[in-house]
Amino acid sequence: MCIFCSIIEGTIPSARVYEDETCLAILDISQVTRGHTLVLPKKHFDNILECDDETLAHLISVTRMLADRIVKNLNAKGCNILVNTNEAAGQSVMHLHFHIIPRYGEEDGLTIEFNPQHEPYDLGEVLKEING
Ligand code: AMP
Ligand code: ZN
Repeated sequence: MCIFCSIIEGTIPSARVYEDETCLAILDISQVTRGHTLVLPKKHFDNILECDDETLAHLISVTRMLADRIVKNLNAKGCNILVNTNEAAGQSVMHLHFHIIPRYGEEDGLTIEFNPQHEPYDLGEVLKEING
């Protein structure tokens, strides 16, 4: 069984931030920044691409509610909300989860850079390929 399914079942302990019929939010064991939280569906989906719309709509709604609560109550200045999809994108637990990572400024030690290391792509070509 996957580790998050075991957490949902309660056979592996976790720090539960929020729970309802559809989802569970827990503190990430690695705490990239203080308050780093994961929001997961109780039903197993490998990743966001596999998840049904209704569950996903609920997850994003809970994620926003918790992000707002975390930022306010931990006096953060903002947050990153991330969903890694597949190993190539850094997904290590193959059970869909949203990361809520509160941000406190430069001193929080997290760097997420959008810094292309290649020549610019032809956007027209990219559009054509995406839309077929
Ligand atoms: P990802 O790399 O997007 O798949 O993220 C998986 C996250 O799950 C990592 O940030 C881990 O620190 C976290 N994680 C793994 N095992 C546990 C656990 N037992 N309890 C809480 N968080 C966990
Ligand atoms: Zn699972």
